[in-house]
Amino acid sequence: MKSDLQISQETDLKPIVEIADKVNLGYEDLELYGNYKAKINFSTIEELKAKPDGKLILVTSINPTPAGEGKSTVTVGLGDALNQINKQAAIALREPSLGPVMGIKGGAAGGGYAQVLPMEDINLHFTGDMHAITSANNALSAFLDNHIHQGNELKIDARRVIWKRVVDLNDRELRQVIVGLGGPIQGVPREDGFDITVASEIMAILCLATDLDDLKARLARIVIGYTFDREPVTAGDLKVEGALALLLKDALKPNLVQTIYGTPAFIHGGPFANIAHGCNSILATKTALKLADYVVTEAGFGADLGAEKFLDIKVPNLKKAPDAIVIVATIRALKMHGGRQKSELLEEDLSALKAGFVNLKRHIENMRSYNIPVIVAINEFVTDTKAEFALLEELCENQGVLAKRVSVWEQGALGGVDLAKAVVELIAEQAADYQPLYQSTATISEKAETIVKKIYGGQGVQFSKKAQKQIEEFEKNGWSGLPICMAKTQYSFSDDPTLLGAPTDFTITIREFVPKLGAGFLVALTGDVMTMPGLPKKPAALNMDVTNQGEVIGLF
Ligand code: ADP
Repeated sequence: MKSDLQISQETDLKPIVEIADKVNLGYEDLELYGNYKAKINFSTIEELKAKPDGKLILVTSINPTPAGEGKSTVTVGLGDALNQINKQAAIALREPSLGPVMGIKGGAAGGGYAQVLPMEDINLHFTGDMHAITSANNALSAFLDNHIHQGNELKIDARRVIWKRVVDLNDRELRQVIVGLGGPIQGVPREDGFDITVASEIMAILCLATDLDDLKARLARIVIGYTFDREPVTAGDLKVEGALALLLKDALKPNLVQTIYGTPAFIHGGPFANIAHGCNSILATKTALKLADYVVTEAGFGADLGAEKFLDIKVPNLKKAPDAIVIVATIRALKMHGGRQKSELLEEDLSALKAGFVNLKRHIENMRSYNIPVIVAINEFVTDTKAEFALLEELCENQGVLAKRVSVWEQGALGGVDLAKAVVELIAEQAADYQPLYQSTATISEKAETIVKKIYGGQGVQFSKKAQKQIEEFEKNGWSGLPICMAKTQYSFSDDPTLLGAPTDFTITIREFVPKLGAGFLVALTGDVMTMPGLPKKPAALNMDVTNQGEVIGLF
């Protein structure tokens, strides 16, 4: 089998102006980044506002396992397949972060014959959005430390600064650092730490902002720490929101690229779903909705994380709910949820598949509780057997859910035609009537309890002493109307990554909240989830190289 990189390098790319033309965008609507990448101008986005939205299809999945699920692959393949059946479709995906690219996960540009291109660029520096976000984030840190150094007029308590520096790499050494060492000329020493860029509030803000003014207003609301009197201090108090918005003015424009089959793909913004809100930008999704009849988008990790946040955080900002939800499952991964090891997945095992189905079943029930039609996509692996397909289809049918096999990884657009037809029919036959999981008026603890009980299937939430105190403070500050963004392991419904399947006998411990007023949500840190990942013993980077001609080697 060819590698993802080989397949992508063998594809003849079309000039991006030709791709833009498919959704009626002209040269004047684009800002070109070379021949194959472009950003969409703000003036075009403004003009498009009057147009009606197309249909929105959200792709999500079961809890990920090391066996692989292939959400991005199915998202790309479904977009291609919709075009194949003569529906006008576009794709809206997240931008990959260099951390996992160099670490373990691999890229995030799809796989096999369902990829977005040029995958080398998309997986590496792309159009520089990640760097702009990193710069804006760290500029705020520099302005904050300079303010303290220059006399600290705002009386910021250096021990209560919550704004962290970021870098777009997996670098565990930087989780906790001390800055400002070296004496009075070098600044004021304080404890700091680095998060990965995709966990940055600036990333979330970029993804939720509707225009530059909204971006600026959100940047001003960022809480950077507290005064000696425990009053919140914002970026707006430092008067730096204008400079930060300036650093982000190009990063805010959605990026346009193409799939192997020439489907327009908007790839913009990339928060992780386990430690952040997990969906691509509002501006990219909105632009795609104005330009195409069907937009396929993806939310990160399993439906307990990415899709829940899509539905409870992104949808109220996007002002448009999905018309259908596709849950991706693989037979391999379900067998792991049923107790098998990765090394045992080549064997047919109907009883493990049946046992592991409980994971998919709970995700189906959860997604249905939002009153949106649901369909299952079985992402085919060459090792799956006929009997396993038949069993999974039957198990889904017993739940009243249609399941369609997808072989876009191996066969490209044609391999997704059955799913595409079924999704179009589902949308035509069943109207979505989106119901949020909770009301904004619920208290912070009620919201957290609702997520844990209704989506994770747990018994309830335990709050650490610190979290309890924070809830009181946040209520006093008037922040309790905000949604909760859970930071939780992606591997399990619970906060224990080893509990696969559909556990019920657990509680979730919220050890700390981080207020993200600019993004407009409160992050709840659960278990030992880290906002700066580490590298594995043998990082993916060890396979990577570049030739003297600049040709990329070993990028999956
Ligand atoms: P996710 O979005 O769920 O993280 P991706 O779509 O990025 O998953 O796929 C992860 C990896 O798995 C990619 O390298 C891709 O090529 C591979 N992959 C996806 N689907 C298949 C499949 N059906 N058969 C073999 N490999 C696959």
